[in-house]
Amino acid sequence: MKQSPDIVDLDKILRTSPLVAGGFMGDDPRSVTEVIDTDAGTLFVLGVTAKQIAARMRQITDMAAQALGTWTDIDARRQAMVDEVRGALPCSWPHAGDYFKRVTTLQRTDSGQTIRWSDLNIHMIAAHGFFEGRGSTFRTEPAELVAALF
Ligand SMILES: [Zn+2]
Repeated sequence: MKQSPDIVDLDKILRTSPLVAGGFMGDDPRSVTEVIDTDAGTLFVLGVTAKQIAARMRQITDMAAQALGTWTDIDARRQAMVDEVRGALPCSWPHAGDYFKRVTTLQRTDSGQTIRWSDLNIHMIAAHGFFEGRGSTFRTEPAELVAALF
């Protein structure tokens, strides 16, 4: 399918964003539309929506943020910590709004699985179904994310 000029621009911005080292696409050769569509297919198979994932991430970040840089028990199998990084980032999609740069680290205490995300990731997953391209700093495969969160 031919991509609209808007999507082509977005793809370029996500690959070259000066705000994040390496951009949001990592070394993923796929288009942003392909990345989003493929991840949407994975979520469909897993039976979880991007909004449910983002809501759970938000809940964990909110719980951990209260502990100011120390590990917080989320439940019997999970702990999380928020690193306060000053500043905010805009989303690459054309709309208003900045998102905190702070990073949440979630660890499963049973499996040792550890994942990280920024507030911008929560937004991009909730609003755009975008988990970033493979090889980018904050890409987590949707299946791994679901395993860690639920
Ligand atoms: Zn956005």
